[in-house]
Amino acid sequence: MKITCYYSDHSDMGYILLKPRLEDQVDEFESSKNEITHHLQPEQITIPYVTDEVVSPYLDLMTIAANTFEEDYEVGYDTEYGNDMDDEGYISGIELTLYHDRFIDLVKNQVFKVIRTEWRNREFHLITFDYADEVFKPENVIYKLTDEEDAFVIVQLIEPKTLGYQYTDENDQKRAVALFRGLISARDDIYPLEYLLKPQFLLRKDEGYLQIEKRLWCSPSDKHIWNAISLEHRNSLLNSINCDQCSANFDMLDCTFDMKSTNSFIARLYCKRCKHRFVKVVEWD
Ligand SMILES: [Zn+2]
Repeated sequence: MKITCYYSDHSDMGYILLKPRLEDQVDEFESSKNEITHHLQPEQITIPYVTDEVVSPYLDLMTIAANTFEEDYEVGYDTEYGNDMDDEGYISGIELTLYHDRFIDLVKNQVFKVIRTEWRNREFHLITFDYADEVFKPENVIYKLTDEEDAFVIVQLIEPKTLGYQYTDENDQKRAVALFRGLISARDDIYPLEYLLKPQFLLRKDEGYLQIEKRLWCSPSDKHIWNAISLEHRNSLLNSINCDQCSANFDMLDCTFDMKSTNSFIARLYCKRCKHRFVKVVEWD
């Protein structure tokens, strides 16, 4: 399971990717920027698979919401940020506040784990995103993701003011914020065990990319190097990039680049036409 934490002086953002996406595999460039190994030994970076723990009695103590998670959004609860969901209502990714020291602590203590359990006469995998005493609080709420009742989330509903949220609308202020504590899944096709157990924990300082031109982002220090190149040469470098998949030209691509040297850069590209993500290294003499 891929979990990223980008931190900076003003914000720490996390993202839990619950189902594999080809374009989200950690590439070499990301690995080279990954700081988690500065804090932890490689053997500490693991997602345990637990088969002998009996957790269903704890699940039975929680309230099961009548509606699906999607139906209750902005009715029964709010979320911290947007969550990615497929057309049926299965969550693919969760955006959350994740302080980088907390992320290191959670990984170090192997809080992210997969527990095989029998619940409601069916085999499920429970994936935990927090310590057991937070995941198994009886006051937590279980939401089915769809009416198939083959995947659920465990959320803790928190008063917004506890999180320091201020709304201009008083009614919004009353609505609880759902913090994700676990995913319960019988859908190995959507949430494959093999993916869930593969730790891809990425901790990275957010260098604060600036948009320097339409569709073009880079770090403040790279901006100086980039601007030292003649405009004509810059344009010809960018125009040499086409989409790997559909051949769209640079007009259709969003590009974030990091200078590798004074005559090469690595570009992370997103094609707006075919939604393909790819990485290109551009070099010149
Ligand atoms: Zn394309």
